[in-house]
Amino acid sequence: MASEKLNIIEQFKNLDVLKMDRRTFLKAVAALGATSFVSVYGNQLASALTFSETKVLWLHGAECTGCSESALNGEKPEFADALRELNISLTYHETLLAQQGIFNDGKLVNTSDLNAEILLHDLIEAGNYILVVEGSIGNGPDGTGKICMYGGNTFKSVFEHAAKNANAIIALGTCATYGGITVTDAATKKYCDFKGVMQTEQDRNDGMLQLLKINKPCVNLPGCPSHPDWLFLTVAGILLGKLDLTDPSWLDADGRPLMFFPQDAVLHDNCPRRGYYDRGVLDKDIAQGGCLWKIGCKAPYVHSDCALRKWNDGTSLCMQAGGPCIACVEPIFPNGSMPFYEEKERVEILFGVNMGMVAAFVIGAAVVAAGVHAVRRMKKE
Ligand code: SF4
Ligand code: SF4
Repeated sequence: MASEKLNIIEQFKNLDVLKMDRRTFLKAVAALGATSFVSVYGNQLASALTFSETKVLWLHGAECTGCSESALNGEKPEFADALRELNISLTYHETLLAQQGIFNDGKLVNTSDLNAEILLHDLIEAGNYILVVEGSIGNGPDGTGKICMYGGNTFKSVFEHAAKNANAIIALGTCATYGGITVTDAATKKYCDFKGVMQTEQDRNDGMLQLLKINKPCVNLPGCPSHPDWLFLTVAGILLGKLDLTDPSWLDADGRPLMFFPQDAVLHDNCPRRGYYDRGVLDKDIAQGGCLWKIGCKAPYVHSDCALRKWNDGTSLCMQAGGPCIACVEPIFPNGSMPFYEEKERVEILFGVNMGMVAAFVIGAAVVAAGVHAVRRMKKE
């Protein structure tokens, strides 16, 4: 494994990241991961971005802050180093802001003239920033947005103000991209009416941007949480001019970068437990060490590079740690992938909740692939 990594680094280390065409850049970020990308191209990044500081405003809507946690837990590069490598000024991030408020003028944030709401308002008015949105945006009840308040304002109105003045938007995590856990089927779902930035779980054209008639380029980086590499490498690509936000050909139909969410492969293809699947060693309970298909693994339907990139600085991933994939990067998560720990052989049952919509644009070729695998597996039983 280590020698495989060295070979990959060897392949890219003599290339000039600034002169790469987009195709080569996409290959490099997909193969290297953030850790090796920084070790191979760190100096080039530093010289390219020294004179072009980028402002980032990071807003939290309806969410659990897990995507911030994930970004902050990134190890190589660490979050602060990633900001430095890319010459980013994180001007607003609510979870980290309390300290900024205290130190801005020595008073506690809520008693200060420099409180968070005033600071945010001024930053938005100044414009010229990338907006990162973590969490969905509440439209309910009845279009008021009052289900999610941000200080004295609705988050819907704060998002509207910030989105209108942004140069570009990154929707981070499945709540911000498609609604995620905030649109889990419940009696209150219609009342809350949470929406992703560009789309919802059921409709690619029903995001908050469309509702507010705001036309801004947006990249979707789903995941519950999203991977720190996906964020770092996407921002690096944008800042280096390799990922053109006006040309979405590097994004899939759900707004995800194809280099991390390939449409011609599914997560199951590279699972470390794949050998067990092929030999029909299918666990019936947790902690048995075989393939997790029968206890609910949805990876045969999922497009993501989790199994190659892995988590916690390349240490492990859900299936490796014994947990079935719950399809957290797909628009149908979580309604379409529940119950999480039940085998779902037939696609119409797996995605039964929204089958008409899902069949049209979510699973595509993955269904065929998974169907073929299911037939192969059944023959072996
Ligand atoms: S079904 Fe899940 S656990 Fe089994 S091989 Fe595929 S991805 Fe791995
Ligand atoms: S393996 Fe599946 S559940 Fe785990 S992070 Fe990747 S897509 Fe999400």
